[in-house]
Order: sequence, then C-alpha cells, then structure tokens
Amino acid sequence: MTHYVVGITGGIGSGKSTVAERFEKLGIVVADADQASREIVEPGQDAYLAILEKFGNPVLLEDGTLNRAYLRQKIFAEKTNRLWLEKLTHLPIMQNLKDKLQSAKSAYGILMLSTGAGKSPLMDRMIVVDVTPDVQISRVKERDHNDEALIRKIMASQPNREDRLSWADDVIENNGDLVSLKQTVYDLHQYYLRLANHA
Ligand code: ATP
Repeated sequence: MTHYVVGITGGIGSGKSTVAERFEKLGIVVADADQASREIVEPGQDAYLAILEKFGNPVLLEDGTLNRAYLRQKIFAEKTNRLWLEKLTHLPIMQNLKDKLQSAKSAYGILMLSTGAGKSPLMDRMIVVDVTPDVQISRVKERDHNDEALIRKIMASQPNREDRLSWADDVIENNGDLVSLKQTVYDLHQYYLRLANHA
C-alpha cells in the first residue's frame, strides 16, 4: 500500500493527463477520477442499477452499457438530475480511488481529480499544471477541434488561474515542449521519492 499521495489538477488542456502518463512511465500508480467515474457505472454496479431504475431502458445502449450522451442530456436539462447523479456517484468514486491507491505498490501514488477540484484530504501534496490561456486554447483546439468560444466558456466555468495556483504545493509550468515537461516530471519524481521515503 502506498502511504504518500500527490494530487494533480489544472485547467482544461493544461496537460494533466500528459503529466500523469509521465509519472506512470516512471512506475507510479495513477488513480484517475475520470476513469473511476466510468468504472463505477459499469453494468451490474450499484450506481448503474440506480441510474437504470431512475431513467429506465432509454439510458442504456443496445449492449447494456450506459448511454452517456443520453444521460448527459438528462443532466443538463434538469439540475435536480445532476445533483442526484453527483450524490449517487461521489462516494463510490472516492472509494474506487482509495482502493486503487491503497493497493498501489509504487513508492507513492498520483491522484488525478477533475479540473474543478481543489486539494483533497486524500492528498499529501498537490501539483497544479499551469499554462497561459493562449497555450491552453491552442492545445485544446488542436486536440478536440472545438471552436475558441466553446473553449473559453469551459475555461470560464472552471476555477480561475490565480485560485488554482494558490492551492499548489508544486507548479508544473507547461508552456514549453514535451522534452522539458518530461525533465520537470522526472525531477519532481526524484523529490517525491525522497518525501515518500521520509513520510
Ligand atoms: P483535460 O482537462 O481536457 O482533460 P488535460 O489537462 O488532461 O486536459 P492533456 O490532454 O494532457 O491535458 O493535454 C492537452 C493537449 O496538449 C494534448 O493534446 C497533449 O498532447 C498536448 N500537450 C500537453 N503538454 C504539451 C507540451 N508540453 N507540448 C505540446 N503539447 C502538449
């Protein structure tokens, strides 16, 4: 079981997944909230059964898995649905993340929460991945082929850059290329190995 947990957060397209992948390549277990939120609604899971009971068969695809597009529509159409779903999934997601970290054999673990989340009690330290808004927009444009207006809207719905930076124990400045990002993650990894060793 890993006893030291480093969180990662950052705005849309800042490079959280890219950073997490680098830590994984160094042998560090990553618990990802996005992945957890998909796992806890797999067919047969409690949350899956509760969603099916509430929305009926239209919420399923032909293969019996959740129709995410349909569910998203329901959630955006009515706030009570969104709150209901958040309440239903919060604890199972946290349990899934805890289980993953507890069974991790690496010297420390990485916890990747969603973009809006601040420091969690599960974390010993937190990394904020930071880029300038211009870099953020151009990388998301290239990755998702969204137009700039939509990206700006998503950015505006997230915590602002200053608030996010104020939560950071460590900041990864990711305006440069992937080679320098790799080096930054490697240096932090060495530092976390020392911290985890003395924790
Ligand atoms: P989201 O919040 O949308 O999940 P994210 O923070 O996980 O995004 P990534 O998907 O890791 O961000 O990165 C956004 C895009 O920018 C990806 O296409 C990624 O390959 C690219 N990218 C990340 N870091 C760099 C870098 N240093 N140089 C060039 N491209 C980068």
